[in-house]
Amino acid sequence: MEIIDAHLHYSAVQVFQQAAEEKSEVDYSKIGLESIMSECKISAAVGMGLAEATPGLFPDVDTINPMGLDLADNPEKLYTCLGINPVRLKYDRGEQELSRLENAIEKSKVVGLKIYPGYFAFDANAKVYQPVYELAKAYNLPIIIHCGDTFCDKSFLKYAHPLSTNQAAIQHRKINFILAHFGNPWVTDAAMVISNNPNVFADLSGIVIGTAQDIQKALNNQPVINNLKTGLAYVDNYEKFLFGSDWPLVQLAPYIEYVKQLVPEKHYDKVFYKNALQLFTKIN
Ligand SMILES: [Zn+2]
Repeated sequence: MEIIDAHLHYSAVQVFQQAAEEKSEVDYSKIGLESIMSECKISAAVGMGLAEATPGLFPDVDTINPMGLDLADNPEKLYTCLGINPVRLKYDRGEQELSRLENAIEKSKVVGLKIYPGYFAFDANAKVYQPVYELAKAYNLPIIIHCGDTFCDKSFLKYAHPLSTNQAAIQHRKINFILAHFGNPWVTDAAMVISNNPNVFADLSGIVIGTAQDIQKALNNQPVINNLKTGLAYVDNYEKFLFGSDWPLVQLAPYIEYVKQLVPEKHYDKVFYKNALQLFTKIN
């Protein structure tokens, strides 16, 4: 089965490098990504842009816009969602930051934009994101919104709640929004927003992190599996969901098996491949 991984990371952010070593035991490098992509038949992957100005400070409010994929040379089949640091858009330098963002969008491998509510204390409706949404419209790019649990203990969780994306989705019907991580554990709230808005989708990345053993344990965690399946069943539309992993936080091959347990087999072709091509129109 051909797969597109709609959400992974490829940035030299310290906490990812540590997690790859200590939690998931993943080779977080160009060679590591290329070999796992070929092993898992992943024909394209979308990296979520992220950076830190000072090593170890993620989420770092001083990082200039846009945040990209700066781990090493990018593998050929790796595409980018440029990450936004809203704090630097707020002040005088906002204009400069936006023009840098626009210049970067014009590069060929940019397929979307990523915002990080919760990591930064702004929700998806914040005024500061409006010029970013105008660029998304002008360049026909989806917006990926971090939703749900965060990989950081200094997050402002209320901003990461999926309900706060509803208003942005109504005000910007021409933009497709993808709620990362299906808003986990607020999955039924995310399901409500997804089913009520034709332009809202979700990726299924990062629900479990770690090794194959951690995934095995998660597969036996019936209450959490039931919560996820309830959300999926409520939406009852598999054109709305995308496979993503959140690599290097999790081992890719067992995570594919995990998502296969959540999604009915007859919908694999959409969730693992076709929906990503529909939403990331610049993947070729
Ligand atoms: Zn992620």
